[in-house]
Amino acid sequence: MKNNLIMLGLSLGISILVAIWAYRDARTRDSNPFLWSAGAVIGGLMLPFLGALLVPVLYIIFRPKGHLNTCPHCNRKYINYLAFCPHCGKPVKKECLRCHENMELDATECPYCRMKA
Ligand SMILES: [Zn+2]
Ligand SMILES: [Zn+2]
Repeated sequence: MKNNLIMLGLSLGISILVAIWAYRDARTRDSNPFLWSAGAVIGGLMLPFLGALLVPVLYIIFRPKGHLNTCPHCNRKYINYLAFCPHCGKPVKKECLRCHENMELDATECPYCRMKA
């Protein structure tokens, strides 16, 4: 019985570490940070160890994929297709005046229509 409690405690500890990691990574990628961190804790409690390890594997498979850029305002990472930083909410893209596509703040011309920024 005492061993079970230690196992559960250890599993919960791993789950919490996974939850913190998933929360931060999901924010960066504009995924759902609450869903993934809650999933990690619940998974760790329902299936000790296995659940805590299964959630990050599932998360890595299903998380939005893309290149990570650094926000010029707060220096934190965000996934490249976002127009606003998920951490500080400031715009990280500017809109092309001709075709209204988004481009990087430091771009000198629009990658879609070649209009000079
Ligand atoms: Zn930012
Ligand atoms: Zn354009």
